[in-house]
Amino acid sequence: MYDVIIIGGGPAGFTAGIYAARAALKALLLEGATTVSQITVTDLIENYPGIPEGIGGYELISRMRAQGEKFNLSVKQADVVKVIPRKAGETTSWQVETSGGTFESLALIVATGANWRKLGVPGEEALKGRGVSYCATCDGPFFRNKEVMVVGGGDTAIQEALFLTRFAEKVTVIHRRNRLRATKILQERAFAHPKIEFIWESVVEEIVGKDYVEGVVVKNLPTGEKKTYKADGIFVFVGLTPNTELFRNLVKLDEGGYIKVNQRMETSTKGIFACGDCTSKLLRQVVTACGDGATAAFAAELYVEALKGEAY
Ligand code: NAP
Repeated sequence: MYDVIIIGGGPAGFTAGIYAARAALKALLLEGATTVSQITVTDLIENYPGIPEGIGGYELISRMRAQGEKFNLSVKQADVVKVIPRKAGETTSWQVETSGGTFESLALIVATGANWRKLGVPGEEALKGRGVSYCATCDGPFFRNKEVMVVGGGDTAIQEALFLTRFAEKVTVIHRRNRLRATKILQERAFAHPKIEFIWESVVEEIVGKDYVEGVVVKNLPTGEKKTYKADGIFVFVGLTPNTELFRNLVKLDEGGYIKVNQRMETSTKGIFACGDCTSKLLRQVVTACGDGATAAFAAELYVEALKGEAY
């Protein structure tokens, strides 16, 4: 029986793991076996305090893992399949079934993050991995001297458009409004970049190509006019979908599917805590995920101590 099982190997999960293990809880962190945290495919994080030179997402997570293990955090790669509540008198423990075995704990911390949302247009699914991508760090190098489209107007779209200029000859950002949602510093860099162009107030209607992406059908929203642009690739960054399906029947979710938490990162169910991008919150950043993770671990520690009759 673990004191706490943390589901998710991103910044929120690993921070919760570091805090739980350092508090001498018997803690297990389950990292996805077939999925990775979004941050591990982020090229550069330049707004994490204390690292002015910036740090790659993969390196940051590797360092967090090492820090957790230093404090005896157990880390396993396994995909969670099901979480089953097991009642014993007044208390409930959590049985976590995974691709790598079944584990049980007194408290559960959900830090499953979010995944990239799809456009849902014809051609997207068929040409996925054949020019349709959701990860510039993974696929950018395939587009050396080519022309690519980026869809979206948020931080991810603009940051990744800037990253793609390292490889592509031309990067065209398609956004449904006439101004960007992204933070000002990223906007200024994109507007000043000679390789980046914008198609405003437009949406992608279809992605076309036989074996690989060859073009994108774009509709101008004010006029309704459709035009096909030549493109070798299309990178879709239109927001996130929370990875919370497994918990739909265990805790309350908001209308977007994010887990509702209070200031202590407690969910609607006693003994289940949640933190990071999978929760209902204003700002999804590494630094806020870490803060949530620390709070969730501390609240879980108090919960476990009370269960064991060891509360201070
Ligand atoms: P986001 O902020 O939700 O932006 C999604 C963008 O896609 C918006 O511009 C949205 O348009 C557009 N969009 C949504 N659905 C669309 C559709 N069906 N067709 C066309 N466009 C569509 O998502 P994100 O950029 O992935 O960012 C997620 C979170 O991570 C945010 O909190 C962000 O601040 C954070 N983040 C931060 C950094 C950084 O600090 N450097 C980097 C990456 C991500 P509208 O604007 O019209 O809604």
